Amino acid sequence: MRRIMRLFLCLSLMLAGTSALLAKDIDISGIRFGQNGEVTRFVLDVSEKAEPSIFLLADPYRVVIDLPEADWRASDKVKGEGAVDGFRHGLFAPGIYRIVLDLKAPAIVKKSFHLAPRGGYGHRLVIDLETTSRTQFLTAVKDSKKARPVMVSKATPDVVSPRRSVTGKRIIVIDAGHGGPDPGNLGVIGVHEKVIVLAIARAVRDELNATGRYDVRMTRDRDIFWPVRERFRIARRHGADLFISIHADSISKPNVSGASVYNLSETASDKEAARLAARENKSDVIAGVNLEQADDEVSSILIDLAQRETMNFSAQFAAILVSELERDVPMLRRGHRFANLGVLKAPDVPSVLLEAGYLTNKQNARFLNSRDGQRRIAKAVRRAIDRYFEQMVALGR
Ligand SMILES: [Zn+2]
Repeated sequence: MRRIMRLFLCLSLMLAGTSALLAKDIDISGIRFGQNGEVTRFVLDVSEKAEPSIFLLADPYRVVIDLPEADWRASDKVKGEGAVDGFRHGLFAPGIYRIVLDLKAPAIVKKSFHLAPRGGYGHRLVIDLETTSRTQFLTAVKDSKKARPVMVSKATPDVVSPRRSVTGKRIIVIDAGHGGPDPGNLGVIGVHEKVIVLAIARAVRDELNATGRYDVRMTRDRDIFWPVRERFRIARRHGADLFISIHADSISKPNVSGASVYNLSETASDKEAARLAARENKSDVIAGVNLEQADDEVSSILIDLAQRETMNFSAQFAAILVSELERDVPMLRRGHRFANLGVLKAPDVPSVLLEAGYLTNKQNARFLNSRDGQRRIAKAVRRAIDRYFEQMVALGR
């Protein structure tokens, strides 16, 4: 009997082992580029055969390669060659690991194939790109869309749930900017924005949770990408009372430092704000989101009178947040600014974008990357939220 039990145990362990193996992500252990005439070859060393889904995007020219969830162990320092200028990669959505190749000039996928282990090499995925004309590239963009199954977002449709969570607490949604194949900007200390803002977002969450007064949700709590619209949709689905998107800025002048808080406006408060909006709104382009399907519901909502109240609340919160940050965090002059930021376009959730500081200033970048800096920011955000809702209560809301 015991032997049978042992055999059974052994078998079930084996089965568990296989299913764990099946569920396991692929490993990408190396990548390289090579050029041969008009053909640029992209080779990925993979742990097993993986079927890529490849499509093209124009303006700028990009090749997007989607793979099953992968563990990236390859070097990020590999330089593009031939038609390829550079690349980015990361978790695009649950189950989809994305590599985006930026092209110097239009190039189409001539072929892609799998190579079995041989001659000291393991499994390889090979993608051959061939330079082409713009017209041919644009045709290939259309064809690649047709050939590829349309990815359906797993997200449920917008449901604006009643305010207050079941516990009666105010719901705060914290959005750590960027993620996955969109790393945000790389500061002088060599840490990407997506990493630093997630650390700040977690510090804010922990600070708010410690009060016991708020129900805090995060748009992401790992290195994953969300399209800009999806971020505020998450806030709407949670029935958020407040939405705070956290970013860190960059600029060509290394002496500029300090935090600023942004509200939505179709007209930017200054040139820098316009530039910032252009940068931050590019997130979807960087991560290779096909923007063609995007509708214009938001711009029509934007002019809706119903949004005015939300914008008022957003501005009130931004002003309070600036004054609380000023007490303990390095600030930019004129800390309260306006820009046309896509992530702030929820029509019914008061929203602000916190640019926590500049990663292009060494001291500021170190502050943002430190536990102490993150805690100071988190405390300022918590104090601002406390004050804002006290004010709301006073107004009978
Ligand atoms: Zn950003």
